[in-house]
Amino acid sequence: MTRRSRHGRRTAPCVPCVPCEPRPGRPPGRPPGRPPGPSAAKAGPSQTDGPYDSNIRFRRLLGESSIPTHMNLRDEGRLRVLQALHATGGTSRPELVRLTKLSRATVYALVTDLVTSGLVREESGTSEPENRSLGRPAQLLTLQPTAAYAVGADIGHTHVRVALCDLYGVPVWDHVEAVEVDRAPHATLDLAAELIHQALRECAAPIERVLGLGVGIASPVSGDGALVAEGIMPGWTDVRPGRELEQRTGIPTQLINDANAGALAEHLYGAGRGVDNMVYIRLSAGIGAGIVTSGHLLLGVGGLAGEIGHLLAIEDGLICRCGNRGCLETVASPVAIARLLRDSWDQPVAPDDLPSLLREDRVGARRAVEDAGAAVGRALAGVVTLINPQLIVVGGDLAAIGEPLFESMRRAIDRRALPHAGAQVRVVAGELGSRAEVRGAAGRVLAQAPHALALMSEADSHELPRATRSPTLSGS
Ligand SMILES: [Zn+2]
Repeated sequence: MTRRSRHGRRTAPCVPCVPCEPRPGRPPGRPPGRPPGPSAAKAGPSQTDGPYDSNIRFRRLLGESSIPTHMNLRDEGRLRVLQALHATGGTSRPELVRLTKLSRATVYALVTDLVTSGLVREESGTSEPENRSLGRPAQLLTLQPTAAYAVGADIGHTHVRVALCDLYGVPVWDHVEAVEVDRAPHATLDLAAELIHQALRECAAPIERVLGLGVGIASPVSGDGALVAEGIMPGWTDVRPGRELEQRTGIPTQLINDANAGALAEHLYGAGRGVDNMVYIRLSAGIGAGIVTSGHLLLGVGGLAGEIGHLLAIEDGLICRCGNRGCLETVASPVAIARLLRDSWDQPVAPDDLPSLLREDRVGARRAVEDAGAAVGRALAGVVTLINPQLIVVGGDLAAIGEPLFESMRRAIDRRALPHAGAQVRVVAGELGSRAEVRGAAGRVLAQAPHALALMSEADSHELPRATRSPTLSGS
């Protein structure tokens, strides 16, 4: 396996990462998913676009029930309090009484236990007045972000990325390696496991505080966790990456298609926050889409929904790795654009060269990118007509090119989609960049965080250190 460091700023030792890129128009200071300050807590969970809603979306997206039937009353009470804190990002005791519909005495006793156990902390800031007549402010309660973690892994065709995320889905450790993945499954899985162990070691995160490992992979994933890798990732047929990584790390593992992971992340933390009908399209070495309709992630009967890269783009085009001919991926992936320029100019051109060629205003490069955007737009026009989304979020390597690509996509959608549906959709860049897939994979695990925390035995939770806080989170 060829292995080389990528993105010089991320060479080992790994760089503890800072929260994601600020969102245009969003006040700076608190990244998506972080506990809110007192003013945000005052806004309360009734706001439909707030973090409270994101937790509901998590469970709805993944089709989960809110209360397991086997829970006793005390665990159920803990679960309700933890769900409210997870969903709101932070709130007060009186608000918890309102949200959980438990008695005041029960909520106060549960909160005392949770604070003592180190799962919940009282912020120095305050929430709304607890007793307006006395003017006494209520304290803001939040989950202790590093009381537990989720690990995300993103396995693409040419890279492996691992991130350790706190309870709010914010990466506290993040590392990417460029490797040849498609024909080297076992070496790739060894590397992913090695990075996971490195993350836990460098963050001093005990494995018993890791809720799970979510793995996004550049292959369709069937309902039983098997890859549908034939032709897509040729060496991975019959490999069970979830089971293999679970054996290598000892961490319960969930597998998800990488475009679906990206869709989850942008829907929960990024450009698609609060949008229940959206498409995330990932334009990288592979092209795929994650589709959210009416708040549900669309998977299809065999997990193959969203494979937009294998829609027909050119009737007599090149043979695609899926075995068909003229797929979108053969004309619009960065690899395909670089191949076109290389063959036309008779000189080496790599996919990574595309942004600099556009900055130099090389006419041929601009034309090739615009044509690729038009091909993607034609495919998306069909999707727009079929499912009538409000938003298309563009991620993957090619998204960095920006407007020359986006404009041609929009033109093709306007030209070919049902006019009313075309007029209702916006095309925007993803906000999470190359971290979308790894954050969505970890986010899938975090959807079950309140359940896992509620089921921790009191003995175990007493062992959790209190008020631990990663220095990388301070000030964020
Ligand atoms: Zn194909």
